[in-house]
Amino acid sequence: MDELKNKAKDLLTNGGIDLFIGYEEGTRIPRPLFASSPEEAEKLVFNDKCTGNLAVYLTRKDLVGGKKAGIAASYYALKSIVQLYEENQIKEDLIKIFGLIDNTLKQFDTVDEIKQYLKEAAPPSKQTDDELMAQIDTMTMEERWRFWTDELSKCFKCYACRAACPMCYCTKCIVEVNRPQWIQPWAATVSNMEWQINRVMHMAGRCSDCGSCGAACPLGLPVHILTHKMAQLVKENFGEPSGKSNVLSTFKPEDKETFIL
Ligand code: SF4
Ligand code: SF4
Repeated sequence: MDELKNKAKDLLTNGGIDLFIGYEEGTRIPRPLFASSPEEAEKLVFNDKCTGNLAVYLTRKDLVGGKKAGIAASYYALKSIVQLYEENQIKEDLIKIFGLIDNTLKQFDTVDEIKQYLKEAAPPSKQTDDELMAQIDTMTMEERWRFWTDELSKCFKCYACRAACPMCYCTKCIVEVNRPQWIQPWAATVSNMEWQINRVMHMAGRCSDCGSCGAACPLGLPVHILTHKMAQLVKENFGEPSGKSNVLSTFKPEDKETFIL
C-alpha cells in the first residue's frame, strides 16, 4: 500500500517519528519490518494478510525506548494498543497509529478514536479457533484434562508464546523468579501446566484474543485457545473489558462468588 509507505517516509523525513513498525513481504506471510529511514520504509506492505500483532514491539525498550514510533496496526493490535495505554505502558503522543479499515488506510489520532472504532467494528472471523473451542467444550472434564495434559506435555518451555504477546511485558516473569520458586523451570507436564495456567490467568481481561501466542509456538500447541476461552468467559461474566478495570485486580460487590465453597 503506497499510501502507508508515503506517510511513513514523510514522517521519517520530517522527524515526526524515529521508527516505523510495519510489515514487509515474507516467505509465506508478511513479517515485521522496523524502518528507521525513508529508504527502509520503501519495503512496507499493508494488506489483509498483515495480521500479526505488532503491538508487541511497542514495549520493547531496546527497540522503541523514548523514540517516537509509527505502527501499522491490525484489528487485534489496535485492541492491544488500547490495553497497553490503559496500563500506562505507552504514551499517546509518542505513537502514530495506522489501521487498515475496509482496505482504506486510517490514521488514529487518539486512543479514544481507536476505542470508538473497536466498539463499532466486527472482529475478524476466527472460525478455526471457534471450531476447536466448540470441540473442546463438548468434552467431559476428564477428556478435557487429558487433551490439555497431552498437548502441554510436549511443551519444552521455549517461551515463544510469551515473547509474542503484547501483554507479557514484565521485566521479570514469574517463571524466572526463584525466591520463592513458584514454577519449576524445567519442562515437565505438571510444571508446563502450571506455566500455562499462570500465563492465562495473567491475561484475564487483558488479552486481545489475537492468537499470536499459539501462532508463535514452534510445536503448534493451541495455547491461544486457552486465552480465547478466557477472553470469552471474562466477557460473559464481567462484560466487555474496559481496559482500566482489570478483572484480576478489581471487583464489583455484585460479582458472583461461586468459586468460594
Ligand atoms: S495471550 Fe495470546 S491471544 Fe492474548 S494478547 Fe497475548 S498473544 Fe494475543
Ligand atoms: S511456545 Fe509452545 S513450546 Fe514454547 S513455551 Fe509456549 S507452549 Fe511451550
